Amino acid sequence: MIIDLEKYRSKGLKLTPQRLAILEYLDGNTSHPTAEDIYRAVKKKYPTISFATVYNTLQALLRIGEIMELTIDPERRHFDPNTTPHHHVICTECGRIGDVFVDYSDKLRLPENITEEFTITSIHIDFYGVCRHCKKKKGG
Ligand code: ZN
Ligand code: MN
Repeated sequence: MIIDLEKYRSKGLKLTPQRLAILEYLDGNTSHPTAEDIYRAVKKKYPTISFATVYNTLQALLRIGEIMELTIDPERRHFDPNTTPHHHVICTECGRIGDVFVDYSDKLRLPENITEEFTITSIHIDFYGVCRHCKKKKGG
């Protein structure tokens, strides 16, 4: 695993061993973990790490634009180290979140009263459904 430390340093992120462990866990991670998921995973390597450290690191990474925060799950906030524009789908049974790499921007038209009022800078679509695993479990 290669993490570009200079990139984080140049953005003013102080790098401690614990923070590095968080970055390592997030690097290439497509599971959209919550702060609790990250805390649990990093704690295995750094048993003394506190939840506050994880939380503060996530806030710092959000501030410098290195991760995204997802609001798709009304229960918990999830984090995504992939900051390239994409959409998400969530299983309403188990909460699993998947990536949707389709650009819908040319298919979506907003009414004029909106575009007169707002310049749209990004679009994020949340899809809700039941995953294959949960569908099978329900006998569907
Ligand atoms: Zn599911
Ligand atoms: Mn994603």
